[in-house]
Amino acid sequence: MSKDSIVLVTQNKHKLAELTPLFEEYGMPFETTSLEKFEIRSSDVEKIAEAAARHAFMTLGRPVVLDDTGFFVSSLKDFPGAYAAFALKSIGYQGILKLLENVEDRRARFVTAVGFCDGIHLRTFVGEMHGTISQEPSGNEGFGYDPIFIPEGFTKTYADLTFKEKISISHRSKAFRKFLEWGTSIPDNP
Ligand code: IMP
Repeated sequence: MSKDSIVLVTQNKHKLAELTPLFEEYGMPFETTSLEKFEIRSSDVEKIAEAAARHAFMTLGRPVVLDDTGFFVSSLKDFPGAYAAFALKSIGYQGILKLLENVEDRRARFVTAVGFCDGIHLRTFVGEMHGTISQEPSGNEGFGYDPIFIPEGFTKTYADLTFKEKISISHRSKAFRKFLEWGTSIPDNP
């Protein structure tokens, strides 16, 4: 990996808060940027993350890392998927709850694809969390769909979990841990 310190491309303060302790745990310093994540239109979060990482590297000329996250609801044929941000802005998580009224199959999953590019490597790393959609929103922590998502193995939503609990299990942490394991194990390039 290049010796230049890495730039984390996100304007989302929740993501930044979730990722800071993880990067610290692996001893990997990072900087932030005002550059917005460039998003191609695709239903594949890995393709989106890869294109965004390539674009950010071409713009900044520094090693970059970022993520793209999709939210896939089984009974809605995986809607909203990679269009999770658009769905949240338009119908909101209340709209998802409405679509699931009287629906028994409440399975859903988050998929995060991390994209990394340093001009030598262009890599993606994927983390998933399976769970179910709650009957009602609950909890004040987190962001996005957190108030309606109950992760597997829990009886409360992501937004009911403490910050520490969420980052110890989340889809995003899983994907970034894969990246950080890899990034701290490969030799530095000059
Ligand atoms: P993106 O990765 O920023 O494109 O996220 C897509 C959409 O999913 C946004 O509307 C986010 O608010 C939502 N989202 C991303 N990560 C999470 C999460 O960890 N919990 C809940 N919602 C999330």
